[in-house]
Order: sequence, then structure tokens, then C-alpha cells
Amino acid sequence: MKRIVYATYSAAGGDRLVWRLASRRLRILAYHGICDDELARERWVPPYFVTRSAFDAQLAYLKRHACVLPLSEAVARLRGHDLPARAVSITFDDGYANNLYAAYPILKKYGMPATIFLATAYMDSGELFPFDRVQLIEHLMRGHATAHREAPSLRDYERAPLDDVRRRIDDWWHRWGSPLTADQVTTLRPLRRDEMAGFSGGLVEFGAHTHSHCILRNETEARRRAEIRESILRVADLTGRTPTLFSYPNGKPTDFGEDDKQVLRGARIAAAVTTTAGSNRRDRDLLELRRYSVGLLHTPQSFAAALTGVQTLLGIARRGA
Ligand SMILES: [Zn+2]
Repeated sequence: MKRIVYATYSAAGGDRLVWRLASRRLRILAYHGICDDELARERWVPPYFVTRSAFDAQLAYLKRHACVLPLSEAVARLRGHDLPARAVSITFDDGYANNLYAAYPILKKYGMPATIFLATAYMDSGELFPFDRVQLIEHLMRGHATAHREAPSLRDYERAPLDDVRRRIDDWWHRWGSPLTADQVTTLRPLRRDEMAGFSGGLVEFGAHTHSHCILRNETEARRRAEIRESILRVADLTGRTPTLFSYPNGKPTDFGEDDKQVLRGARIAAAVTTTAGSNRRDRDLLELRRYSVGLLHTPQSFAAALTGVQTLLGIARRGA
């Protein structure tokens, strides 16, 4: 049913009409990882990934309809009342290695800039992101009723302090061995420090995403402050530039608070992005910018519907991580 709505909307030129009528808004896309096309049906691939070919087609759509700007420039121009028509910024959360090997070649092909928000703790340890580890555990435990009850879940990750969940993940990992396939490691591993040089060329800028990707609301005030500051310092160390952009892990309105925004202001962060779906007008709080999340389920038509706000209007919430 949804597919028919989006196909009709695209065929009738609905997206092109929105680009014309609501052109003075900043639209920000939230990506995470890019996977090989042949992995798209694997149940362990997170729903917030997109395939290489889908990403290529989405950038081709942006080339036709949008003016893609680096997020830092778009934010400055939004604030300065100088945003060009049909402005879009591309962002990636977390810092997957596939951003370099799969996304960056396609960004270069279209000459499009992007911002990558790094959860810095995993760049040195090489450990998979905790939300991916719990999802792999959930995947592996399907059909194991007894073990399933003891295994940490995505729900735990979203509700408990991160250190508690990581301890449970480590216990489980230790008990069951490290059951990752080569495809899983290649697809899900974080960027390494020595790979940062691969982004030379100026198309990619980096922002902070907390150090250990904790969901701020689950942590103590001191930990929240330390997580934000540490990630900013680490990104500065990795890139040689103090970041001015931040992305809240999980990014829903209840995942962060006014205190966190105060810490960001103190660290001279100019803008922070959430996972609340929507476009951004001039009067939007720059520390609560909205984004449209893109995932495996997007067809070309539903991507156009998402980016032009129709999907949000129809009340379809997308998952963010
Ligand atoms: Zn994230």
C-alpha cells in the first residue's frame, strides 16, 4: 500500500512540486553504513544500512533535484539567511569503515560532500559498535529459547547505562565465542585511526558522536559531559581540526537534554543533529536539527517521499541508531 502511495506521488511529480514550494529549508540525510548489494537480504545487516547501488541511485536523485552542501556550510548559511534553494546535507553516524570503502568512492563520483560523526572509542579498539553487537546476538540467538532470555538485547542497550550493557555483551561474547563471519566483520567494523588519511580531498568533514556511543539520557551528568568532551577532543586529534558539529547517539528527543546542549555550547559546537524526521527552517534550534533517516527499506520512490517530507506527514517513523 505504502509503495503504491509513493509510486503515485513520484509519478505525479509530487516530489518535484515540494522541491519548488518548500525550497528554503535545509534537509539533512542520516545514513550509517553502506553494504554490498548481495548482502541486502542477510538478516544481520542493520535496517539503517543502504546498499551501494541504492546509495548511488540516491545521490543521482540528489544531483537532479538538490543542492548538496557540507553540513557546516549549510548551517552557517541557514543562520545567515543565505541558504540556497533545495539545500541538502549528507551525514553518516558512527564511523563505519564502509564509509571509506563503499560510500566515499560514490561521493567522489558525484562530487558530493558529507559529514561523518565518529563514536571515537572504537577506532582504536576495533570492537564492533555495541548496538551492532547486541543485534548480532539477537540474530544468533533466534531459535535458542533458553540462551535468548539471558542475552543482552537492543532494548537493554536503549535503556541501561552503556557500561552495564557492554559488560553483559562481553560476558555473552566470551561464553559463546566470537561467532562473526568475514562478511560481518567487513561490513560492521569501525574505521581505524590509520584509515582516516583515506578521506583526503576535502569532501568529507568529521563531527563528534560521543566517545563510546552511550545514549546520554541513560548516563550520569558527569559521564555525559565527559563523553561529549572526549569525543570532541579525539576528533580534533584525528583530523587536526576542532569539530563544530555533533550528533546525539540514538538522537530521539528524550535521548538528550538541555544540560547536554549546554556542554555542546561550551565546546563551541555550532550545530547538533537528531534523528527526529523533518526539514529545518531558519528558526530551528541549531542544536536540535532534524534529519531524514535512510535505510534498507527505501525504494527510489520512498526515498523521494522521505526527503520531501511526505513520509513524515504520513506518520511513518524510521528507526535510528
Ligand atoms: Zn550512532
